[in-house]
Amino acid sequence: MQGKVIGIVGGGQLARMLTLAAKPLGFRVVVISTYAGSPAAQVGADEIVAEGGDEAALRRLAEQVDYLTVEFEEQFEVPPIQAIANSGLPVHPAPETIELIKDKLKQKQYLRKHGIAVGPFAEITDFTQAKVLLRTYGGKMLVKTRRGGYDGNGNAVVKSIEGLRNTLEQFQNRPVYAESFVDFKKELAVMVARDINGNIKTYPVVETIHVRNICDEVLAPANISDKEQRQALRLAKRVAQHLQGAGVFGIEMFLMSNGEVLVNEIAPRVHNSGHYTIEACRTSQFEQHIRAITGLPLGSPELVVPAAAMVNVLGESNGPARLDSLDKAMAVPHTNIHMYGKSPTKIDRKMGHITATGKNVLQARKRARGARSKIKV
Ligand code: AMP
Repeated sequence: MQGKVIGIVGGGQLARMLTLAAKPLGFRVVVISTYAGSPAAQVGADEIVAEGGDEAALRRLAEQVDYLTVEFEEQFEVPPIQAIANSGLPVHPAPETIELIKDKLKQKQYLRKHGIAVGPFAEITDFTQAKVLLRTYGGKMLVKTRRGGYDGNGNAVVKSIEGLRNTLEQFQNRPVYAESFVDFKKELAVMVARDINGNIKTYPVVETIHVRNICDEVLAPANISDKEQRQALRLAKRVAQHLQGAGVFGIEMFLMSNGEVLVNEIAPRVHNSGHYTIEACRTSQFEQHIRAITGLPLGSPELVVPAAAMVNVLGESNGPARLDSLDKAMAVPHTNIHMYGKSPTKIDRKMGHITATGKNVLQARKRARGARSKIKV
């Protein structure tokens, strides 16, 4: 692979960790970023600085690379990426998959059509129809924007007619849909990798814990029954079988109190719920994605430690980024700290993450949270 070049649309923390995985395999990486000195460029990716949506810059990127991938599906419209794929450059995940996943309503419809369990949902066409949906869903539902929503952006829980009116006003002019509020027992996630021949490998089932709709902690493996685990893995595999193109996908799920598992949503890329794989699995999700999109064989996703816990370092204030408290966190044993080189800090901005390993999830979580509590960002 010496001398081959991977292009990434986006230069944030996911592109940074992809770059860190690609370099030891002999690849060069070029990213397209909206600002100079992106997290990926800081660790050795070449960088094209361009406004999001700059199609000429995207074509310039495509001319310099052997493979193209996307860090974050919101960063570009799909048609220019599709045009690049049509010209013969390997683009993964497939533009069709990115297009499907970018529209959360279409994604849910697609999953349901293929017999994959999802919670009740419906398109919202107008206020009167939305009021009927609210009643149908037992008086509690989520209104979600079809596009452009991430980390809970574009989601609102609605429990009253008044709340519904306010939410629809707030999302004015943006196409929205409704989901019945799912009273889940746990949130689960499975990273799944698909190579260019359609071979699939699944990572262990993990539990994800969200704060303010943002993934905050990931516990591996999830503390669930063998049956629930088998069901989650089967579901993740089936989702991957129905997607086109190679790469790593994050499948987010809800575990219900009756043991049923529903798919919440798919990320067509490496994902926050798979960061733990850097320390805890034989092949990290980042290396796996690089292998998948470049036609290399997939690596083993098995755990190499009994347990791991990942805690995000979310910004606590607005202002210049600070790293002066890291030394105390680094003193916690069996703990790895990953900072993304972002500045400024903003409230809830993903500034870094911590992964701790241990003989069980309890121990790993205590270590990760202990280290996290020592960091001021
Ligand atoms: P999303 O970005 O749409 O995956 O939503 C972010 C988080 O909101 C999820 O991880 C859940 O914690 C919560 N959430 C999303 N959809 C639902 C739902 N239908 N019922 C209950 N909670 C939900």
